[in-house]
This record gives sequence, structure tokens and C-alpha cells, in this order.
Amino acid sequence: MAKGRKRIVVAGAGIGGAAVAALLQHQGNQVTLLERNSYIGGKCTSFEKDGFVSDYAFHIFSRGEKGPLGDVNRRIDGDLRWRTTHPAGRWYFSGGGWFTVPDNAFWAIPYGASAYVRGVIRPGIFNTLRKSLKNYGVMGMVDTAFKLAQTDETFLQGIDNISLQEFLYQFTDDGPTHRFMAIFSYLATVVHYSEASAGELLYCLITQMRAGSLSYPIGGAREIAGSYTRAFVRDGGTIRRGCKVKRILVKDGKARGVETEEGEEIPADAVVSNAGIKSTMDLVGHEQLPAEYVSYVNGLKYSLAANIVRYGMDCRLPEIPRHFFQYVEKDDEGLVGCFLKDRSIPKDKSFAVIKPADWDPYLAPLGKEILLMGVAGPSTVNPENIEYNDRLMDCAERQMFDFFPRIKDHIQWTQRAGIQQTSALTGRPSGECVGLAQCVGQTGAKKPTVKTPIKDLWLVGSDAGARGIGTEQAAASALYVSYLLGDRS
Ligand SMILES: Cc1cc2nc3c(=O)[nH]c(=O)nc-3n(C[C@H](O)[C@H](O)[C@H](O)COP(=O)(O)OP(=O)(O)OC[C@H]3O[C@@H](n4cnc5c(N)ncnc54)[C@H](O)[C@@H]3O)c2cc1C
Repeated sequence: MAKGRKRIVVAGAGIGGAAVAALLQHQGNQVTLLERNSYIGGKCTSFEKDGFVSDYAFHIFSRGEKGPLGDVNRRIDGDLRWRTTHPAGRWYFSGGGWFTVPDNAFWAIPYGASAYVRGVIRPGIFNTLRKSLKNYGVMGMVDTAFKLAQTDETFLQGIDNISLQEFLYQFTDDGPTHRFMAIFSYLATVVHYSEASAGELLYCLITQMRAGSLSYPIGGAREIAGSYTRAFVRDGGTIRRGCKVKRILVKDGKARGVETEEGEEIPADAVVSNAGIKSTMDLVGHEQLPAEYVSYVNGLKYSLAANIVRYGMDCRLPEIPRHFFQYVEKDDEGLVGCFLKDRSIPKDKSFAVIKPADWDPYLAPLGKEILLMGVAGPSTVNPENIEYNDRLMDCAERQMFDFFPRIKDHIQWTQRAGIQQTSALTGRPSGECVGLAQCVGQTGAKKPTVKTPIKDLWLVGSDAGARGIGTEQAAASALYVSYLLGDRS
């Protein structure tokens, strides 16, 4: 092997694993990518059924080509292509009316003004001005706005340790503003806004608005890891599907390779794990790690789950807004996430729908389309939560059929993916949506680093080393690992 080239094993071909494998191979290393499933992409994958190509989950990509997913693709000369969304979609506020969601800061003004005039959402402008001026003064407000617009990392780290709710209360007590941000918090991080880190959430919101490039990949969600692994194989990398890593081999405090479930040992100069921080610790063996690291990792929390109902439709349904639709319930009882606290089922339930064939018509047979409905729920896999998530899906489905009655008559097939399916897909004990929760104490400087206490063992994916929405933090984490481990350009 040429001098300077490393033998690297990557365990897991989710977005993070596929991206880091392709980046490191492109830099001239000799990389072996092992994936326990027979397919790649982890949570961000697709499957075919009766001529439909359906996302396993429910993905929209915050910055597409202009974010880290596009950056990885450019660096490896990949073939990933995107369709962008204008506008982002529509929300319906029960008892209020329609709100068109802007995909960038420019359109926020006319769409926001239209919703205000029609009384759909009326943020209390005077309440906000009065409280902001009282707490910050004019110069303080200008300074805060400027730092937020720049996504100034020092500023974000300063507000990482307070919740989005707490941050908002410094500026406004206004109900509609809080409600709006609570919904965004769920959509971006699947964490309730009373727990979500203000720094993380505002980073997600502002980078998305600045990029103005909300997107979906042509060919479906699977094409992201698909394009990365095509470039990886083109550059000489080895990929093995259906190959589960049973153990990460450690000697004298250094990672030496992996052992597969079949008992094969694959030696390596470095191991990168995409299995998630908790599962990686299990693969290493807790006894190999400092006790304080084990207790720190055990204390980390996962995001909530997003339960999915998929529908193959025998016709197109133009009454459902293009790309993305969110129904927002009327009562605070059902305000996103609150109902999770007492395990009740709200009368009026929020739900979200995406229509991937609006981005790429070839994802459904001619004249047909796919609907994906998502609804939040608890993520720990146990019989009680499985049953509760099922009831939440029933309730959201009823609400959706009431709102769009024609759906019921045109379903060709339907499938559900709850926490047990997501957990089986990733091999993690939990069926969470994103990975680690982007809550106070787990983001920015407090996010787990990509380095582990074991020399030459690295973490990649949404659990370590980056900010942003789901897949984008996994890709950003891969860029970071490839920089630290490979050529620093
Ligand atoms: C319902 C739902 C909706 C979502 N919506 C969005 C969205 O709209 N936008 C967005 O950006 N993100 C969204 N996400 C989140 C996003 O999918 C994840 O954050 C992201 O894909 C995680 O990537 P990852 O690289 O961390 O790993 P994962 O997807 O967790 O993949 C890890 C891979 O490692 C493999 N693996 C694990 N253990 C082993 C082992 N021992 N040996 C070999 N292989 C192993 C697994 O099989 C898997 O393929 C959503 C997720 C879900 C479930």
C-alpha cells in the first residue's frame, strides 16, 4: 500500500457512514464499508413496491445542494441531483386558515403578511417589541439579530444551553409566536421546544432560510447514500452489505479493526463507526472505556420518534398542497409534543404529509402518487410505546381522512413504520427519528465529539460532531471526520 494511505473500516452505511467512506476513499485511503442490512442509507433509504419508490421515512432536505449533503457530493465528484421546493409547503391552522410556508427569507415577508392580514396567525408585534426593548434595548436587539443572521458560532454556543422556549420568552410572551416555533422545533429536531436547544434550532432555521434550497433528491431518499457509494466503488472502495460488525477490536487502547458476525477479523489502521454512540460503546465493550465516558454516554437522550404511514395512491390528489402539508391542531391539548407527557390522545391531532412525486414524478407510476404521513411519538421501544404510537397514528389518520376525504377512496396500498421498524432498520435499541436529541446539554460544544477515548476509533453520523437537521448533521459529521482523519483540505 502506498505510503500515507490508511486502511480504514467504516461500520454502517447510513448517510454518515456512506459519506465518510466516500470522502476517505476519494482522498486515497483504502476503505472497507460494512453494512448490516442488505441495502444502504440507514434511516434515509427507499424501497420499491408495485412500481412506487417510497421513502422508508419522511424526508425533506433543508439545504439540498447548498448544504453539507451537496458538499460531500461535490468533493467526491458524485452524481447526486436535487429538485428544490418553492414554496416550502402549506400549513393549515385549524380554526384559522392556510399559511404558505416560505422557503427563504425573502418570501417570508409576503407570505407572513398575507397570513397576518387574513388572521391566520397574528404574532403580537407590540408585545414582542415592548419585551425585546425592555430586555435588550435597541442596540442589543440589532446585535442579536446580526449575530443570528451570521449564525455566529460563539453566539450560538452562548444560547445552546437554554431552551428555545426560554430564549423566546426573553423577547415575547406572544402565544402565536411560541406556537409557531414549537411546531418548527418538532419539524426540525423532533424535540419539544421547551427542551430543544435555542442555539441548535436557530442555526437550523437561519441556515435553511439563507440557503433557500429546501430540496429532495431525484430518484428518492436512497439516492443520497446511493450516489456516495457509487463514487466510493468507482474510487476503488470495498462495500459489503449484509455484513454486521459484532465487535470493534481494541488493543492497548487503540482500535485495530473489527470482527464481523461471521467471525472474520478485518484489520485496520482506523475504525469509523456509524452505528450510533451507544451501540458503538457496546461494540467496543464498556470495560475498554473510562467509566466516566460510559456514564456520560448512558446519560445521553434520543430524539422523539416520527411514526410514518405510507400510502400508494391510485390517482393524484391536487387538493393536498404540493410537496409538504402540515395540519396544526386547534387546542393546546394537542400542541405538538405536549400530549406526549401524559400519554393521552388529543381530540384534534397535528399531522404532516409529504408527496415525494411532486419533486420527482418517476417515484410513482404514471398518474399515481405516494403520500407519507408523519406523526410524533415516544421513541423507546417497549410494548406500551408501540401500542401508544399505533393509537397516535390511528388518530392522525382519522384527522387526515376528515380533512381530505378523497384519500380513503384512492388508497392502493398502505403500510406503517413505527418505532419497532425504525429500531430494526438501524440496529439501535431505540426507534428515534434523528439520533441524539438536539436538546439543552447535547448540542454545540456539548455535542459528543467524533473522537472517542479509544485511539483511532471515530464516530460519524447524526450522533456526533455537527449541527443541523437530521441527515445534514450526519453529512457534516462525515466532512469533519474526513478532515481530521484524512487530508486536511
Ligand atoms: C421518520 C423519519 C423522518 C425523518 N425526517 C428527516 C427529514 O425530513 N430531514 C432530515 O434531514 N432528516 C430526517 N430524519 C433523520 C435522518 O434520517 C437521520 O438523522 C439520519 O439519516 C441519520 O444518519 P446516520 O448516518 O447517523 O445513521 P443511520 O441512519 O442511523 O444509519 C446507521 C447505519 O449503520 C448500520 N449499522 C448499525 N450497526 C451496525 C453494525 N454493527 N454493523 C454494520 N452496520 C451497522 C445500520 O444498519 C444503518 O444502515 C428522519 C428520520 C426518520 C426515522
